[in-house]
Amino acid sequence: MSFELQKMLRPHIAGLKPYSSARDEYAGTEGVFLDANENPFGSTAPGSFNRYPDPYQNEIKEKLAEIKSVNQNQIFLGNGSDEAIDLLLRAFCNPGKDNIIILPPTYGMYEVSAAINDVAIKRVELSEDFQLKPKQILAMVDNYTKVIFICSPNNPTGNLMDKNSIVQILENFDGIVVVDEAYIDFAPEVSMISELGKYPNLVIIQTFSKAWGLASLRIGMAFSSAEIIAILNLIKPPYNISGLTQEKVLKALSQPNAVHGMVGKIMEGKKDLVKKLEGMAEVSKVYPSDANFVLIKVKEAREIYHYLIEEKIIIRDRSKVALCEDCLRISVGTPEENEVFLNAFGAYFKQTVK
Ligand SMILES: *Cc1c(COP(=O)(O)O)cnc(C)c1O
Repeated sequence: MSFELQKMLRPHIAGLKPYSSARDEYAGTEGVFLDANENPFGSTAPGSFNRYPDPYQNEIKEKLAEIKSVNQNQIFLGNGSDEAIDLLLRAFCNPGKDNIIILPPTYGMYEVSAAINDVAIKRVELSEDFQLKPKQILAMVDNYTKVIFICSPNNPTGNLMDKNSIVQILENFDGIVVVDEAYIDFAPEVSMISELGKYPNLVIIQTFSKAWGLASLRIGMAFSSAEIIAILNLIKPPYNISGLTQEKVLKALSQPNAVHGMVGKIMEGKKDLVKKLEGMAEVSKVYPSDANFVLIKVKEAREIYHYLIEEKIIIRDRSKVALCEDCLRISVGTPEENEVFLNAFGAYFKQTVK
């Protein structure tokens, strides 16, 4: 393998001069700030929001670096991890020329983001048991393939990908390999962050939206080499994480054990939900899940989905997705929510006139 970052980059990005924000020039918090045309009197909403936030979110990164055992310069924070996905495409893929490889069934944003950026998409379906097919994936690579997206645990199937297969792709592909670990906090395996030193082409994506319970704040993480992270920082909008979000995330990070408590409760709920679903004759398959949702196979998936909507219970219909025929995806809720779902789901099959 010969991964050369400068060769991978779009040429105009390699020579790009970043926007220099007012707050780039003076790092102190004390002073008379007449540089950014802000309102000096305060905010029109309760709270202190009249100053622009730290463009590099250094306080958060200091805490995260400790928690994740990486250097601060190996962390990128985005407006949701979706921003990191978009920026990776913008940095590496020439529109109308380059392509990415995705592995359906998988997270929909890779494809949407590529389409928005006019980047071609190549697809290699997962195997019947939703695992990677590394030989076929590597055979699909051409001179214009820049990024391969691997989601592990995978959405919507819920399973972790085999680690050896991921490594095989990392070692034999000269482009960027993104491992999306949005659900890693629920999985029985550890993050691949510890492998960053070994693979210069590895980018790991995580999020505060799932286990951390902060989806509304819109903040996601990318971990990679300092060089790749520097590129993401170069092309991001200057103030991409709001001050309010930074303040709340800092609070969350100051009590990192809270997340373990919540994950534990969700795992217990999942165990119970899986057991009850497995006990239902109408459910032909409950797929093994390393995440906070379960994928099930049923007859009449679409009808069940609409029946539940009428009951104001919203799950995800995946029945039109490749390899997921007749499948529904259910997020694990509170024990009460799971019970409400199970009762309505059971009631569907008891109707005399459907
Ligand atoms: C939910 C999810 C994300 C998170 O997106 P955010 O923009 O951080 O909210 C990323 N990847 C996958 C696979 C997801 O399911």
